[in-house]
Amino acid sequence: MATSLSAAPVQPNKLAEEIIDTLVHRIGKDQKAARPHDWLAATILTVRNDIVEKWMDSTRDAHAKGAKRVYYLSLEFLIGRLLRDALSNLRQTRDVAAALETLGVDLAQIEEIEPDAALGNGGLGRLAACFMESLASLDLPAYGYGIRYVNGMFRQRIDDGFQVELPENWLQYGNPWEFERRESKYFIGFGGEVVGTETGHVHWKAGEGVEAVAVDTPMVGWRGKRVNTLRLWTARSLDPLQLDRFNAGDFEGALQGQTRADTLVRVLYPNDSTAAGQELRLRQEYFFSSASIQDIVRRHLQYDGDIRTLPTKAAIQLNDTHPAVAVAELMRLLVDHHDLGFDEAWDITRATFGYTNHTLLPEALESWPLPLFERLLPRHMQLVYAINAKLLREAKAKGADEAAIKAISLIDEGGERRVRMANLAFAGSHSVNGVAALHTDLMKQTVFRDLHALYPERINNKTNGITPRRWLQEANPGLASLIEEAIGPGFRDDAAELAKLDAHADDDAFQQKFAAVKRANKVALTQYLRAEMGLRLDPDAMFDVQIKRIHEYKRQLLNIIETVALYDQIRSHPEREWVPRVKLFAGKAASSYVNAKLIIKLAGDVARRINADPAIGGLLKVAFVPNYNVSLAEKIIPAANLSEQISTAGMEASGTGNMKFALNGALTIGTLDGANVEIRDHVGEDNIVIFGMTADEVAQARADGYRPRDIIDRSPELGQALSAIASGVFSPDDPDRYKGLIGGLYDTDHFMLAADFDAYAAAQREVDRRWHDAAQWNATAIRNVARVGWFSSDRTIAEYAKDIWGVL
Ligand SMILES: *Cc1c(COP(=O)(O)O)cnc(C)c1O
Repeated sequence: MATSLSAAPVQPNKLAEEIIDTLVHRIGKDQKAARPHDWLAATILTVRNDIVEKWMDSTRDAHAKGAKRVYYLSLEFLIGRLLRDALSNLRQTRDVAAALETLGVDLAQIEEIEPDAALGNGGLGRLAACFMESLASLDLPAYGYGIRYVNGMFRQRIDDGFQVELPENWLQYGNPWEFERRESKYFIGFGGEVVGTETGHVHWKAGEGVEAVAVDTPMVGWRGKRVNTLRLWTARSLDPLQLDRFNAGDFEGALQGQTRADTLVRVLYPNDSTAAGQELRLRQEYFFSSASIQDIVRRHLQYDGDIRTLPTKAAIQLNDTHPAVAVAELMRLLVDHHDLGFDEAWDITRATFGYTNHTLLPEALESWPLPLFERLLPRHMQLVYAINAKLLREAKAKGADEAAIKAISLIDEGGERRVRMANLAFAGSHSVNGVAALHTDLMKQTVFRDLHALYPERINNKTNGITPRRWLQEANPGLASLIEEAIGPGFRDDAAELAKLDAHADDDAFQQKFAAVKRANKVALTQYLRAEMGLRLDPDAMFDVQIKRIHEYKRQLLNIIETVALYDQIRSHPEREWVPRVKLFAGKAASSYVNAKLIIKLAGDVARRINADPAIGGLLKVAFVPNYNVSLAEKIIPAANLSEQISTAGMEASGTGNMKFALNGALTIGTLDGANVEIRDHVGEDNIVIFGMTADEVAQARADGYRPRDIIDRSPELGQALSAIASGVFSPDDPDRYKGLIGGLYDTDHFMLAADFDAYAAAQREVDRRWHDAAQWNATAIRNVARVGWFSSDRTIAEYAKDIWGVL
C-alpha cells in the first residue's frame, strides 16, 4: 500500500524544513504569522521545485530527440485546482501531508482553499485539461496554448433562487504555479491595411497592436514521467504610459493603451452568449492564435532552421473553431514572411493542422460578419479569399454542383456575408474529427456533408475521454484503494485493467465494501452540503444527479418536470414502495440565456415546495447546488448513484460528465446521444437505462411536423405536471413566471421533451425497481466501473497521437 502511494521514502522533517524556508524567504512570513493562503503558496512553491526540474528534463529530452511536438490550441482550459493533482501524480501526497502535519497544517484544508482555475465554460475546456494531463502521462512532448483570463468563468450565486453572476477572482492571491516569460513576447496587430512592396510582395501594416506575453504553467503527468507546458498569453500595451498626455493632466487617457490590452484578456466569453462583445471575441481569438503560431514557428526555426519541415516537427490541433484563424495566420507567415509560394504554404499548413469539431448546433457554429473580419484582419481576409478560390476550383473540378459549392464556400452568402470558421478549419486541416461515434456520423451527414464528399478521407472519430487520475484516483481515493485491494495497482497505470474488476461484481463481500465506499462518499457530500448551504440529506437515499451547464438541449427541464410528476405520484399513491431520492442539480447558465436562467429558478422553486411538504415524508428531496465547477464535480460525482444524461438525441456531441459518473459507479439513465451510445456498448445493455428517441427518430419527427400539443394531450402525467408548473403551483409569488417557458413546450418544444417524457418516466420507474434489489444494483455499479476504462483520455490521446499527429 505505502509503496504504491509514495515513490520516495518519507522524509517529513526535511520537507517540513523546506516548506518553512519557502514560507520565510519567498512569502516573507514566519510560522506564527502565516495564514492558510501563505501555507498553500509555500507548499506549492516547495513542490514546484521538483516539478521544475522534471519540466526542464522534459524540454531537454524533446530537444535532444528532435521530437515532433503536439500543440493544442484552445480558447478554454478548465483545469481546476492543481495541488492535489500534482502531488498525486508525483506520488508525494503522503510525504507532503506528513510534513505539513508536523507543522500543524492540514493538507486537505489548504488544498480546499486553492482557487479553482476556471478558464473554460464546460466540457470543451475540461477536455483540454484532461488532454494536457494525458499528453504528459503518455510522455508526449506537448504545449497547450490559450489565454490567461484575469477573470475566468463567473462565480454563480443563487439569490432567492435566481442566478447572480460574480467575477471569479482566481488570481487575487497571486498564482504560485505560473511563470511569466517576459522574453517570449510577440507583436499582435489589428486593423490597418495591406500594402505592396517593391519586390512585388504584400505586407500587412497593422493599424494598432499589442504584445502577447507568455505565462507558463507546468502540467505534471502520471508518476511525474513528463512535465509539459500550458502556455497562456497575457496582453501588454506597447505604449503603456503616454507621458505627454500624463504630463498634460490626462491621467486616464495616458493609460488607455494598457487598459485596452487588459480588456483583451479580461474575461472568458460564455459558450452560449449572443452577439455581445463580438468584436472583442474575434480579437481574443486572433490574439492567442497569432501568438501561438508565431511561437511555434519561432521554436521550429530555432531547432530545425527550415520552415518547410514544419509538419514533421509540429502537429497543431484546433480545439473547435475558436482558433481557426490560426490557419490563415500560418499562411500569412509562410507567404509574407517566409516567401513561400501560396500552394506550397497551403500544403504545409494542411499537413500541420488538425481540427476537432465539438458541436452541430447551428447557432454554435462560428461565423464572423465579413466587414468586421476584413476591418480587423485585412491580410487574413485576402488569404481567406485566396484559399476559398482554390477550394472552390477543386470542388468544381470534382463535379460539385451549385448547392454543394454554396455549402463548401468559406463565405456564407445567404444574407449578410460571413466568414465560416468551421469551413476554414476543415479546409486547412488534414484531419477533422468528431468527439463520439454518433457525432462523427452526424457530422458527415449534416454540417460537413459536402466537404466530406469532397475529402472523404478527412473526417475521423476520436471519442472523448477523461483522465482517471483526477476523476477516479484523486476524486475517489476510497474507491481507488478498494479497486487496488481487489485487482492490484495496475489500473493506476492502465485504465484498461479495470476490466479485472468484472470478476468481483457478483462477489457479495466485494459488493458490501463497494457499497460502503459509495455510502462514505455520500456522507461526505451530505456533510459538505449541510455546511455550505444548510441542506439536510439522507445518505441512504438514491443520489440522482444532473450537473452540467444549463442548456435546453441538455434537458434539465425534462428532469424537473418528471420530478414534479413523481411528486404528484407519491402524494397520490403513498402506499407504494417509493424509493427515497435526492435530486441534485448544479450548473451555470450563460448570462444572456433567459430560458436557462429560468430553469435554474424553477429547480429552486420546485425544491422549496417539495422539500417543505410533510406529505411525502422525505421520500423526495430536491436541491440546486450553486457554483458548479471542477472542484464541486470532484465532490459530487463520487457520491452519485444515478447519472442523468438525457439530452435530445443528436445534440450532445459527446459529453464527458457521463464518463466520470460511470467510472465512479453510478448508473446512467440516458438517451442514445453522444458517448452514451458507446458507454452502453461497453457496459452492456443490462447495466445502463436507455430511453427515448434516437437521433434518426428525432430527425424524422421534425421532418414529419412535430406536434407536441397532441403528445401532451395523450399523456395525463405530463399534462398535469405542466399545468401545475404553468399555473403557478411552485411560484405563488409570481404565478405567471413559467407560463412562457411551459407554453413553449406546447407550441414548439424544439428539444422534444414531450416526445420523450413518458419513456423517461418509465425509465425512472425501472431505475426504482433496480434500486430495490441492492445486490443487483451494486453488481451493475461495479460493472460500470470495470467496463469504462476505455473512456480514459489516455486512450483518446493515443488515438490522436497515432492517427492524426503521427507521434506514436
Ligand atoms: C466534466 C465537466 C463538464 C462536462 O459535463 P457534461 O455533462 O459532459 O456536459 C462540465 N463542467 C465541469 C466542471 C466538468 O467537470
